[in-house]
Amino acid sequence: MTENYKFNPNQKCEYFPCHKGVEKEDFNCLFCYCPLYLLGEECGGNYSYHDGLKDCSGCTKPHDSDSYDFVMSKMHLIFRRND
Ligand code: SF4
Repeated sequence: MTENYKFNPNQKCEYFPCHKGVEKEDFNCLFCYCPLYLLGEECGGNYSYHDGLKDCSGCTKPHDSDSYDFVMSKMHLIFRRND
């Protein structure tokens, strides 16, 4: 069984690749806007803070080859917040 739904590169995007640190052939655009942002410090990514704002520019978690499984592993935290 294929798992193509987990990987959606968009190499025609004007901003591709929008983050450094992931090989172009492994770059997943499925989570262009990271759904884990709202988890704050629980997201598990490599964020920093600048002027009090969470800065994700150094994080490749939503774009690397394991991004689908990583994001899905955290989705229960988002659902828990909305209970
Ligand atoms: S991009 Fe990285 S640091 Fe930012 S919310 Fe997503 S996982 Fe966390």
